[in-house]
Amino acid sequence: PTVFVSGATGYIAQHIVKQLLDSQKYNVIGSYRNTEKADQLRANFKNNSHLSLVKVEDLGHIEAFAKVFQEYGPKLDYILHTASPLDFSAKDLENDMIMPAINGTKGIIQATVNYAPNVKKFVMTSSVAAVMSPLPADRDPHKKIVYTEESWNNRKLEDSLNNAYSAYSYSKTAAEKLAWELHKELHPKFSLTTINPVLVLGPQCFDSNAAGKLNVSSEIIDDLLHTKPNDEITNTRNGSYIDVRDVARAHLECITNDNLDGHRLILSEAKYTMQTFADIINKNFPQLKGKIAKGVPGSDKKAIEELPTVLDNHVTKELLGFEFKKIDEIVKDVIEQVLKVQQL
Ligand code: NDP
Repeated sequence: PTVFVSGATGYIAQHIVKQLLDSQKYNVIGSYRNTEKADQLRANFKNNSHLSLVKVEDLGHIEAFAKVFQEYGPKLDYILHTASPLDFSAKDLENDMIMPAINGTKGIIQATVNYAPNVKKFVMTSSVAAVMSPLPADRDPHKKIVYTEESWNNRKLEDSLNNAYSAYSYSKTAAEKLAWELHKELHPKFSLTTINPVLVLGPQCFDSNAAGKLNVSSEIIDDLLHTKPNDEITNTRNGSYIDVRDVARAHLECITNDNLDGHRLILSEAKYTMQTFADIINKNFPQLKGKIAKGVPGSDKKAIEELPTVLDNHVTKELLGFEFKKIDEIVKDVIEQVLKVQQL
């Protein structure tokens, strides 16, 4: 079978491609926009003959995927749509973040319907940003706000343009909603599943990708590695985490497990604060002790308990049936990789 992976040069997508190729069950066609990154990816996969990479124009062009699917469509069995803007330095939030996310999704679904008659499953990488809403101003501080696979981010477009993070959340929400709507409207032969991860952490697929600035979602670990010993660490940077290898694995599970058809899968293991990372690094990497901030070890536990929201993803966990990696292992793997290729 042949799997199409959009945005194959991405942090998560590279792990997906690796797991697909490692399984030795699939041919992979990946899309890219940047030729240099594509050449690097081909080389990293040692020119594996089961991987081909095709150039797709910017996601903002509604016809971007149609052009490619006119040629490759009949070969495709599964689509994993991961490409979406994740650049928080974007200036024009509507045109550089929201529009490409929406048009990319619309374009690839339409191209699949029109030119890829053998596709059985379509899996979209959405986000927990499409699930969680801003905290309501009138919330009861003694009650936790619970989100599940049924929850949707309710922030409107006009309230989402004040910063890149809310624009990103809007882009993911609008794109995912559109996918479900189109799927309902067009009655295609393929099933739809969305994967909604929280903050994705974990090593880069290839060590060379860890040589400079790490990818966007690993920024929090990057920042910590560049602290000074006496810098303060607050527990205000917090959220929930999931390992990138588990995110990739969930995409592969969607291909083989029909029980996942039609579901939104919230991928989340547990919560963190910045102190959680500091404690793991200071405990496990004596060579970094005294070089980076220490904060108040252990103070993350209480801060985590006090966080106002709960992500109840037991439905997803039952459906997937595998254990997600825990923060200690994830952070250790990230730092080991960084230490291999960077002088800290
Ligand atoms: P990356 O930025 O590493 O990957 C994004 C991919 O999309 C890249 O291949 C990128 O191309 C491509 N892309 C972005 N904008 C455009 C555009 N305008 N036109 C064409 N291609 C574009 O991020 P991740 O791997 O982390 O993210 C992958 C998916 O997972 C995204 O849909 C993201 O929203 C979602 N996600 C990520 C989370 C995280 O914590 N990382 C959490 C939840 C969801 P290029 O390589 O050329 O930049």
